[in-house]
Amino acid sequence: MTLNSYQALKLDAAYRPIAIIPATDALVSHMLGKTYVLETHDRIIRSANEAHALPAVVVLKSRVVKKLRTFACSTKNLRIRDDGECQYCGTEIQPGKESVDHVKPKCKGGKHEWTNIVLSCVCCNQKKGAKTVAQAGLRLKKPPVELDYFTYLKKMCGEFEKWKIYLKG
Ligand SMILES: [Zn+2]
Repeated sequence: MTLNSYQALKLDAAYRPIAIIPATDALVSHMLGKTYVLETHDRIIRSANEAHALPAVVVLKSRVVKKLRTFACSTKNLRIRDDGECQYCGTEIQPGKESVDHVKPKCKGGKHEWTNIVLSCVCCNQKKGAKTVAQAGLRLKKPPVELDYFTYLKKMCGEFEKWKIYLKG
């Protein structure tokens, strides 16, 4: 892994996950005295006379974040929520080939909001058209819900095993 691909999970003083940041930035925040390091990656950064393990999880010493991040209903965020899979047929959708289906069609008053949009392949989207899910003979894999920050972080944590205990809840 290159140095830039290491990420760190940042927790607020209440141990709630608030951000994913480059591990090098996490190291800087620690050296500036803003954070404690809770977990480290197996990667050491050496300067002339010091060695530091790259942080994998840091916690802010004092700040508690009141409002967690919210997400716009963009195709990019929808792709994260729906794991890049068509929510009707389960096909994995290539980046750039995704379409957004409105479960309750827009022409029937369906809104562009988290609980009414799903990631869809072009084929299923065309099949559905302005019909309801049942009318089109399709079935949703799961009901659409708002993408919250906790879920987002869980999906993004991927290879970083050391984050997982901080993402329970
Ligand atoms: Zn499909």
